[in-house]
Amino acid sequence: MKDKVIVIGAGLAGVEAAYQAAKRGVDVELYEMRPGTETEAHKTGFLGELVCSNSLGSTQVSAPSGLLKEELKMLDSFYLKIAEEFRVPAGSSFSVDRLRCAERITEEIEKIANIKLIQEEVKDIPETSSPVIIATGPLTGADFAQNLTTITLRKNLFFFDATCPIISADSIDFDQVYFASRYDKGEADFVNIPLDEGQYQEFVAGLIAAEKMEIKDFEKNIFFEACLPIEEIAKRGEKSLAFGPLRPVGLIDPKTNRMPHAVIQLRQDDLQKNFFQMVGFQTRLKWGEQKRIFRKLPGLEKAEFERYGRMHRNTYINGPLIINKYYQCKQKENLYFAGQICGVEGYVESLSSGLIAGIFAAQKVLNQPQYNLPETTACGALINYITRANWKNFRPTKFTFGLLPEVKTKKGNKKLKKELKSGIAIEEMAKWIEKAGI
Ligand SMILES: Cc1cc2nc3c(=O)[nH]c(=O)nc-3n(C[C@H](O)[C@H](O)[C@H](O)COP(=O)(O)OP(=O)(O)OC[C@H]3O[C@@H](n4cnc5c(N)ncnc54)[C@H](O)[C@@H]3O)c2cc1C
Repeated sequence: MKDKVIVIGAGLAGVEAAYQAAKRGVDVELYEMRPGTETEAHKTGFLGELVCSNSLGSTQVSAPSGLLKEELKMLDSFYLKIAEEFRVPAGSSFSVDRLRCAERITEEIEKIANIKLIQEEVKDIPETSSPVIIATGPLTGADFAQNLTTITLRKNLFFFDATCPIISADSIDFDQVYFASRYDKGEADFVNIPLDEGQYQEFVAGLIAAEKMEIKDFEKNIFFEACLPIEEIAKRGEKSLAFGPLRPVGLIDPKTNRMPHAVIQLRQDDLQKNFFQMVGFQTRLKWGEQKRIFRKLPGLEKAEFERYGRMHRNTYINGPLIINKYYQCKQKENLYFAGQICGVEGYVESLSSGLIAGIFAAQKVLNQPQYNLPETTACGALINYITRANWKNFRPTKFTFGLLPEVKTKKGNKKLKKELKSGIAIEEMAKWIEKAGI
């Protein structure tokens, strides 16, 4: 009997994966639980619905989402082709009419003869040797998530995501901060930002007054399950941060030989020391507010944020432990993970993983040779991150230029670096497309 690909979840990753497999002549069963079973965020029964913003990011290839989209277009992205028809004016951002786009995506999927759309909730992992692509997204149905733990174990499936801001090292003014570990234990690994009482009070007031992201009803209890946002701690009392994540004990400032009133610590985030993470700074502050308030801190006046802090409901696996570079489950090779559940973050990143997983699953059915994506491409750098990051503190990621291998430029010209990385990525993607016969 001819083998097929089963795709569970017809969101952004699922429709892209289904199309890529079907386009290669493979039969596809595509399961979607809506409209019969709803999620907390989707509003319709349409496939590929954008749940919140209508923007798919920048159109510029010198911006991360622009480069990722460019590669997806080269790979014949189904979603982007249709989205193009529903673009709304939005400057250099690729924004669409969300509902009309999702409606057309649904119509087009329904027209594809070798895709069988089955609108029912999948509660367990199908017993089959056919490739199964799990693309159930951040709001995966509860029964399915529960049953997934037979593969991932409970400890490697997460239901909530809290990340702290990450800052480029070359944007930190190191003259105003100092390296030290608490009580000088181990190496002086942390960057410490000392605050006097006045600076601390101003910072606390800024956090409390800042604009926050709206909390969705279904997210209201997450603060109790996980760590508190920094602004929430600030609200609990003037001293709560100084006794909590900003406690200065054991962090003597070598310039004054005294313990500051409060200390903000930054921890090295990558082996090359290109990035530092603000410790304990999970937050729901709007991104513009994070930039405004954190740039008032000594040494961070010119901080470039590689990633902002965030907190939201999110179902995802511990990618580095569970999947390989083909988005394939290490333990059960017919299973693939794509979309937000595999540890990527964002619309375009979800499309990227769905598209690539769809190609790999189809190639498996067709017994075709498979080739890793080069790490120098945006799609390859994403896979590289979610399969090779440190599993102990794995957090979902968007694609950023920081995930691509370093290129050297005179005087570290950042704009030029991005342009060079983009050029290499597009060139390498073209070569991969040819080699893999895409
Ligand atoms: C509230 C919210 C807002 C977000 N806003 C943005 C944003 O503005 N910009 C951005 O870039 N990213 C945003 N994201 C993150 C992410 O990019 C999107 O969630 C994106 O849709 C993820 O794509 P996906 O294909 O992984 O999941 P989805 O698009 O959610 O698709 C998963 C599909 O699987 C279905 N499904 C789930 N369980 C089952 C089951 N058991 N059986 C059958 N079907 C099932 C769901 O109904 C859904 O249709 C947001 C996430 C959330 C939760």
